[in-house]
Amino acid sequence: MLIDRKITSPDLDALVSRLVRHAYPELLDHRLTTRWSRISSFAEVRWDNRQKHVSITCDTSTRAWHEGALFGLLSHELSHPISEAARPVEANADLDVIDRGLGVYLATERVTTGRYKDQTTHRGRDRYYGYRSIRQRLTHQETIQLNRLLSDLRIVPSISSDGGVGRIHDIAVVEDERGQTSVGGYLFHGLQIPSSSGVKLVIREDTAFLYVNDRIVGQSSLGPSD
Ligand SMILES: [Zn+2]
Repeated sequence: MLIDRKITSPDLDALVSRLVRHAYPELLDHRLTTRWSRISSFAEVRWDNRQKHVSITCDTSTRAWHEGALFGLLSHELSHPISEAARPVEANADLDVIDRGLGVYLATERVTTGRYKDQTTHRGRDRYYGYRSIRQRLTHQETIQLNRLLSDLRIVPSISSDGGVGRIHDIAVVEDERGQTSVGGYLFHGLQIPSSSGVKLVIREDTAFLYVNDRIVGQSSLGPSD
């Protein structure tokens, strides 16, 4: 288990570097930066492959989480740049986390964020795996570890805990060589988003409205082949 102590104020840099050393060898030569900020989702990740830089922002509400749930959230964010080309993006980030042997933490995070069942996005083309689906993908040993961790946390996963799905789980931001910026899987053209700015997506039916520092800067719709 990665957890070796209880810490009252989690040191994000330390958690991320422990995860990278343990499970993300591809990111060992990257610069990884983290910060806390008040954001609309639980976490945001941005990366630049040319600069080998990955930056993760966690919402201040996650400060109160148990370290096991934070490991789940951070590993999902670290899996985004690695599984970048794989679509659908959220489902593949989750599967990458499970493949790396971190599914126990991902399941703990999904219980913490009230996601017992899968949460589909992008008109059903993408999904966040819920607690139940992640658990089904764990090895026997991992299932035992998960039971132990949840019992330590005094959490009993329950289908009636599906209360947090109204909130966007996390937002991945990446700019490609053609000058397109993908925010949460929606493409925006000709946008420069400064690294310290707050990003918010509001999704109404098939259209995503992008706010940067509380100002609307663009909108994007799902195309037939997105
Ligand atoms: Zn994500």
